[in-house]
Amino acid sequence: MPSPVIVWFRNDLRLADNPAVAEAARLGAPVAALYVLDDESEGVRPLGGASRWWLHHALAALEADLARHGVILQVARGAAREVLAGAVEALAPAAVLWNRRYDAAGIAVDTAVKADIRARGIRADSYNASLLYEPWQVKSRTGDPLKVFSPFWRAAQVLGEPPAPLPAPDRFAGGGSKPAIPGALSLDALQLLPRQPDWAGGLRAAWTPGESGARERLDRFLQDGLAHYADGRDRPDRDYTSRLSPWLRFGEIGPRQVWHAAGAARLSGASAASARDLDKFRAELGWREFSYHLLHQRPDMARVNIQRKFDAFPWRGDETALQAWQRGQTGYPIVDAGMRQLWTTGWMHNRVRMIAASFLIKHLLVDWRLGEDWFWGTLVDADPASNAASWQWVAGSGADAAPYFRIFNPILQGEKFDPAGDYVRAFVPELRGVPADIIHQPWSATAQRLSAAGVVLGRTYPRPIIDHDVARKRALEALDALKPNDI
Ligand SMILES: Cc1cc2nc3c(=O)[nH]c(=O)nc-3n(C[C@H](O)[C@H](O)[C@H](O)COP(=O)(O)OP(=O)(O)OC[C@H]3O[C@@H](n4cnc5c(N)ncnc54)[C@H](O)[C@@H]3O)c2cc1C
Repeated sequence: MPSPVIVWFRNDLRLADNPAVAEAARLGAPVAALYVLDDESEGVRPLGGASRWWLHHALAALEADLARHGVILQVARGAAREVLAGAVEALAPAAVLWNRRYDAAGIAVDTAVKADIRARGIRADSYNASLLYEPWQVKSRTGDPLKVFSPFWRAAQVLGEPPAPLPAPDRFAGGGSKPAIPGALSLDALQLLPRQPDWAGGLRAAWTPGESGARERLDRFLQDGLAHYADGRDRPDRDYTSRLSPWLRFGEIGPRQVWHAAGAARLSGASAASARDLDKFRAELGWREFSYHLLHQRPDMARVNIQRKFDAFPWRGDETALQAWQRGQTGYPIVDAGMRQLWTTGWMHNRVRMIAASFLIKHLLVDWRLGEDWFWGTLVDADPASNAASWQWVAGSGADAAPYFRIFNPILQGEKFDPAGDYVRAFVPELRGVPADIIHQPWSATAQRLSAAGVVLGRTYPRPIIDHDVARKRALEALDALKPNDI
């Protein structure tokens, strides 16, 4: 039997537009497909519970897709460098191929693995599957990395259209052969799913992880959402955004596929989207790219303020306030709806992520890192680049941050982006009977109107945890003390 090729899957759990998979198929050798759950290597940030749930199902889908081609997905647990060393020792492969990742711990492991394998005279190659452009490819005119989104996105576009996606291979050689990797386990043995209690019912109802689930979701978005994107993407009460973020995070679909499918849908008339809708949507993929560009510059971005003057910020270690926020019990309906959407479905609409994050940081003066951590544990799309970059952006501590004095008013934001209150009603059942004109500030209504809606403030739904005007003043004072012009 010819030597096999090891394909090491990571954040690229798909067969289409997967350069490592395409190269393995081209080589015509039997394929040993491997996934390593690595919570052990130095600096690795273990995945949160919601991500683990997603990962289990994404791996199950990949396992089934590969099996149709006669390839067996083998999963293992442990420090990736050791697992790969064992696999290479046992299989004496012709090559080991993978697609790149960009977090610091991942880069360190991959660099070591590549050196180990090459030292044995075996081919080890990596590719780009998860970004439109490599983080180091996008540069200012003077050749420097960029810190602000608009110039970044202009510079990225100068590089031209992202490459067209690769098709999924038709066949792999050596179908049915099983180059066994030492220490391989069953997927269930990774214990990625929650048990006792099984809290994943809401996630199961909301999502279909896997490559075909991603494709279906993309098709639906191109048909129904894209044409409303430019004007409707800020409306959490509508289904106008793609919701592709978890599939993009785990790589069951890649951004090149999404980019080109959106362009083709507009050209062919399959979507009634305008050029503005398309540009706006692609620019959001651009924010994902920008987050990775920042992570490349600042590998410690999830823990360390990009603007170091924020190190002196007087955060309040208010555990009660943090818990009220986490549980969706702040008394501000739009914030609570968002936090409960997150808890039940593992996802939150972007506009509401901004409102909820701003509320934690600026109204409650809780350190943004605690919010980032909560999102890391509860989001199915929890991403090392986008989560950290977005939290720093909202905090004002980031590279291209929202101005520090921008303090979202959760009442006005709710009234503007959820005007009929449908989003709030969907996730805050206590407020289901409350009419639109008072749903974003139930405390301002007469006792009579509230009681007609079945609400008793402080009993069936909390009173605001803090008054908006008081919180705003307190936040501005704290932020002023940082000397904003002294960056
Ligand atoms: C506090 C906070 C935390 C966030 N944490 C994450 C996270 O962990 N993972 C994550 O993928 N996104 C994160 N985002 C960005 C954004 O909210 C989500 O990407 C978006 O809501 C996903 O929904 P969608 O797929 O319908 O997006 P669409 O509007 O359909 O956009 C398409 C894709 O572009 C990317 N994208 C869109 N907006 C952004 C953005 N602002 N920054 C980076 N990428 C973007 C996503 O991959 C998304 O799937 C965060 C935003 C905030 C304010």
